[in-house]
Amino acid sequence: MKTYDVAVIGSGPGGYVAAIRCAQLGMKTAIIEKYSTMGGTCLNVGCIPSKALLDSSHHYEDTLNHLEEHGIEVPKGVKLNIKKMMERKGSVVEQTTKGIEFLMGKNKVDTYQGLGSFEDQTHLKITPEKGDAQIIEAKKIIIATGSKPSSLPFIKIDKKSIITSTELLSLNKVPEHLLVIGGGVIGLELGQVYKRLGAQVTVIEYMDRIIPTMDADQSKELRKVLKKQGVEFALSHKVKSVEKKGKEVIVKADDKKGKEIEFKGDYCLVSVGRRPYTEGLNLDKVGVNVTERGQIEVNDKLQTNIENIYAIGDVIKGAMLAHKASEEGVFVAEVMAGQKPHINYNLIPGVVYTWPEVASVGKTEAQLKEEKIEFKTGKFPMRALGRSRASGDIDGFVKILADKKTDEILGAHMVGARAADMIAELVVAMEYRASAEDIAIISHAHPTYTEAIKEAALDATEGRPIHV
Ligand code: FAD
Ligand code: NAD
Repeated sequence: MKTYDVAVIGSGPGGYVAAIRCAQLGMKTAIIEKYSTMGGTCLNVGCIPSKALLDSSHHYEDTLNHLEEHGIEVPKGVKLNIKKMMERKGSVVEQTTKGIEFLMGKNKVDTYQGLGSFEDQTHLKITPEKGDAQIIEAKKIIIATGSKPSSLPFIKIDKKSIITSTELLSLNKVPEHLLVIGGGVIGLELGQVYKRLGAQVTVIEYMDRIIPTMDADQSKELRKVLKKQGVEFALSHKVKSVEKKGKEVIVKADDKKGKEIEFKGDYCLVSVGRRPYTEGLNLDKVGVNVTERGQIEVNDKLQTNIENIYAIGDVIKGAMLAHKASEEGVFVAEVMAGQKPHINYNLIPGVVYTWPEVASVGKTEAQLKEEKIEFKTGKFPMRALGRSRASGDIDGFVKILADKKTDEILGAHMVGARAADMIAELVVAMEYRASAEDIAIISHAHPTYTEAIKEAALDATEGRPIHV
């Protein structure tokens, strides 16, 4: 029987990063993945394929609708080849997952394909798709088994026309009318993909705004832009049934007055969140505690109630984000090595990769009000920037929230071209507890979208942006 210092169950951005860091710190490490490819949800059916399709569909939409304004005449009859678009996405995924295999080899991490389950506190059984099961021993075990799409109790996901993000990422045709239940990150990113490719898209959302966990101004701006692009919204609608009738999917929901509204489409994406995934782990055998919501319970060292067993990523509490899972992967390896690492959970940025992009870090206005923290607001519209007019990306804004007395930046929220990359400046600023004035007096290259950050900071600190 092979023995290890550490065995990691699950090869997503939590698990594979944990394995690399453990190996770097001198631990003999194994990683177990039940699927034949490494990389977990993120690389196979999450971040990477969705971004590949967002980019491809953006090119298509630009070709159809925006190249002419740049003086590029597009011949009539531009055609979409969805098969090729999907093949490209597949190849991006393959290159990325192969990269993880390479990194495992480079770091001398032993990889096992198969379902990992607990035999006891230090022994794992690995059951591959084909062939015999085997047992390995590990002094310490990291559970990084991630999450799966969740649904509503009355919905039967048939994976054909009532589907989750996993199936929608691999369709071989463009839906005529895509009904999206849930106006969160997945619904909007993938809704925009298929809107660009020619589908009618209707988002049915329970709350009175889309991306309800982000700052309310972002919800408003993104909805405005997506509406302009043709996405339809039914907010404050409580879905109560989803049924298939012939080729149609019929969604019934009550609007805020309690009136029943019927939506008909040929596909229905269920994107109402994800749930932690622990099936098949045999947690009962070792007595690892799980919360009512199915998350593995951990302490501030990400250690479960069983001393040598740790858990990270989507399977525990907190934001279900790849970079959060990876930070925890590094953290837990360093804890095991006796170091004292730190994660600032308040500064894990959140991004929606629609175009314009939406990005946030720190507290929203609503959170600051709830916590009774006095703050001031600085805001700057993207349309006032030369860079935005040059590229034609004039939608959106940067908003900075700073402490009323100390001027420390407490939150930053933006919608705009390349907001996903721009947010990094605010993450750094906030990690070093910068004031709005610190950002306002730093030179930002001209012309860039980041000038909106400087202007919003000027507005927050002194109420005097230059360009509005
Ligand atoms: P996962 O990536 O879910 O990996 C868990 C792995 O464990 C899986 O490979 C699974 O097969 C394996 N496993 C489970 N049980 C066992 C077992 N018993 N034995 C062996 N292996 C097992 N996040 C972002 O930050 N940015 C994005 O742009 C983004 N886009 C997304 C788009 C979509 C469509 C989806 C669905 C998610 C997206 N996410 C994004 C979320 C991101 O994918 C997750 O937060 C991230 O993958 C979590 O990482 P993880 O390592 O905890 O788990
Ligand atoms: P989400 O939590 O972002 O959004 C779910 C939405 O569904 C919410 O707006 C919620 O109000 C709504 N909803 C819930 N119940 C409903 C009902 N009965 N009827 C109508 N609407 C209902 O979840 P998601 O979009 O499924 O994404 C899952 C996870 O994956 C998220 O936690 C997210 O962090 C992660 N993800 C991240 C990215 C990214 O970082 N860009 C991209 C995709 C997914």
